Amino acid sequence: AAGPIGHTVIPIVNKLQDIFAQLGSSSTIDLPQVAVVGSQSSGKSSVLEALVGRDFLPRGSDICTRRPLVLQLVHRPRRTDAAEGGEEWGEFLHLNGQKFFDFSEIRREIQAETEREAGGNKGVSDKQIRLKIFSPNVLNITLVDLPGITKVPVGDQPSDIEARIRTMILSYIKHKTCIILAVSPANADLANSDALQMARIADPDGSRTIGVITKLDIMDRGTDARNFLLGNVIPLRLGYVGIVNRSQQDINLNRSIKDALAFEENFFRKQPILVQHIKNVLPGLKSRINAQLVAVAKEHAAYGDVAESKLSLLWWKGRMKNCQLMSYPVVHEVDPCEDVTD
Ligand code: GDP
Ligand code: MG
Repeated sequence: AAGPIGHTVIPIVNKLQDIFAQLGSSSTIDLPQVAVVGSQSSGKSSVLEALVGRDFLPRGSDICTRRPLVLQLVHRPRRTDAAEGGEEWGEFLHLNGQKFFDFSEIRREIQAETEREAGGNKGVSDKQIRLKIFSPNVLNITLVDLPGITKVPVGDQPSDIEARIRTMILSYIKHKTCIILAVSPANADLANSDALQMARIADPDGSRTIGVITKLDIMDRGTDARNFLLGNVIPLRLGYVGIVNRSQQDINLNRSIKDALAFEENFFRKQPILVQHIKNVLPGLKSRINAQLVAVAKEHAAYGDVAESKLSLLWWKGRMKNCQLMSYPVVHEVDPCEDVTD
């Protein structure tokens, strides 16, 4: 999303999104964005926070995300003269762009604004909250955090809560321009994943779905996610990424994102899933390559010496032609075929 195109097109799309949102018709507008889907507590909000590199979303083991949050990340070049903490801030559309430099205040405002619309008792609303984050550490991209799929109504939730949330999610991910981050926790079977099931409805050939496997750190001992990550269980064209976010205990202990990223890296160094896979397939790969090598050598030998010069002749002619096509100066116009006797 970075690069020259990302810097010019995305702000325009962001602006359009804002305008359409104020007109109150946002969910029918087909503008490019990335949406996270998955069951409740699969780690969707945690994934988004990791992308932004800041703590600012309500997260937890209960239903926290109760309204769609449209998060526009706006890249700002780093300024050397910026005041401490002055380089990153958030602005809510409903607060007319008032600047929030304290990210825990952003979280409080998301919670307060959620309650204003959806009440204090676990209710869900499809009215968006729109937040912009300006930072030198982000790419220009629009992300949408969505309520997770729940099965059993709690609090003020209506009896058809599951169907309502599914409809809400679909209204975002059905658009061909939406990239779907299908978040599934590694400690549940991928074949039961709500995220992948929803993604498949909206994107049957899997061309815009990226599988995200969270909670790799709390899998059952003795199991690993290799088959999930390699697409052996449910293949996806764009493949899977595995991640380790902060646990609830980390959140309670106020563990920083920086710390969590270091932990994640360490985790993957100690659990070399891919390296293990490569080790497993390496012997087969080696014997296939050797077999092909032997076959090619045999074929080569069968052509004999004369044929060999014919081959090099063809190669040479091809090269000369290329030289001319690319209008390189051909230094001497010698016909290399001359000394080749048939
Ligand atoms: P959401 O409901 O899908 O948005 O999920 P949240 O991001 O709110 O996370 C739900 C809970 O799972 C929180 O308590 C997180 O701390 C925890 N969690 C999320 N990802 C991971 C992970 O990779 N490992 C561990 N151990 N806990 C995680
Ligand atoms: Mg959430």
